[in-house]
Amino acid sequence: MLRRHSAIILKSWPNSAAPTPAFAQRTSKALGAGKPAVASMSWRLVLPRKKGLRLKGGGDSIRLGSFFPLLAWDGSDWARDAPTTLAAAEAWTSPTADFDVRVTQPPGLRVLASGRRVGPGRWQARAVRDFTLAAGRFDLITGTARVPGPVRVTVGVEKTAGKRKSPQAFLRSAIASLQRYSALYRPYPWRTYTMVGMADLPEIAGGLEYPTLVYQPAASENAAHETAHQWFYSLVGNDQARYPWLDEGLATWAESAVNGAPPFERATIPPESANRIGQPMSYWDRLDERRYFLGAYLQSYRALLSLGPRPEVDCALRRYVLNPLKPAMPNQRTIYIAANNEPCSCGSPGVACPRRNRCRDGPLRVAARLAQHAP
Ligand SMILES: [Zn+2]
Repeated sequence: MLRRHSAIILKSWPNSAAPTPAFAQRTSKALGAGKPAVASMSWRLVLPRKKGLRLKGGGDSIRLGSFFPLLAWDGSDWARDAPTTLAAAEAWTSPTADFDVRVTQPPGLRVLASGRRVGPGRWQARAVRDFTLAAGRFDLITGTARVPGPVRVTVGVEKTAGKRKSPQAFLRSAIASLQRYSALYRPYPWRTYTMVGMADLPEIAGGLEYPTLVYQPAASENAAHETAHQWFYSLVGNDQARYPWLDEGLATWAESAVNGAPPFERATIPPESANRIGQPMSYWDRLDERRYFLGAYLQSYRALLSLGPRPEVDCALRRYVLNPLKPAMPNQRTIYIAANNEPCSCGSPGVACPRRNRCRDGPLRVAARLAQHAP
């Protein structure tokens, strides 16, 4: 169910004509650890007729974001975090999965979706945390990012009489961002990346990130920020309700490697947000989107900036991204342990830093100081 303030603007429910959803069924015997189980359910979705954010219906296009029941599993337990009340914020937690999706759309509309189109009306996405799609009338352009392997980049900008940026401008930013983060942290691991500019999103400041596909307003872009989420959220998952700074703060830091600085770089951090980087969404929900931005996004950027030279901080983050021993859903400890190449009490040996000869001591210092900033 999606609410704006107290009004319900969308709800989905199991299809009453279908059998009882498997989620509600009990198996007669407990499953052993590591044993597979099959669950299925049927559901129907009602799209908002007028305005929506994750979901849009009506007009000449639709957008389906966060539109199906996710498996809310954090790697060891169900993620029962409450949804956030800040419209543009995220509070989802989900493991990666393979998606095989069949789409039937009205003639004349084009579909852009996560992953890649493998046949008429059929899309597949591998090892992603979510799946999204849009259908509409788009001006399309494609290009290739070298990360260094080729990634096919597709940009679709909705045809609209209103103001909009050129598809070429979106494409240039998307390719530059993919290549920059691939060099900084690790190569983008999927074969496709799609950026969709939509006409109904003029009031959002950034965009809406989903694995391998992000939405932007048709008239503006912050491809650097939304593309950074392909690393911090999509590739390295986190509980977005409990640790929003692990996706938003780190994406804001990465963004500055492309844009030079985040938006409102010199803004004053209000007292309710100051020194609250590590707070969960339940804290930010009590404030407003501006205080959330300043507290979790901009303040994280400043904290990272204060830790040492940029190459050292990026080296620490590279270890965080690369660490093969990180849990399925990293928490704040993970980043200190990953950045710190010392063995930790859990036995993790850390991970070799590809640039250790250039910043051997840096990550250790960064890890220690990070721990002070976001305990
Ligand atoms: Zn973001």
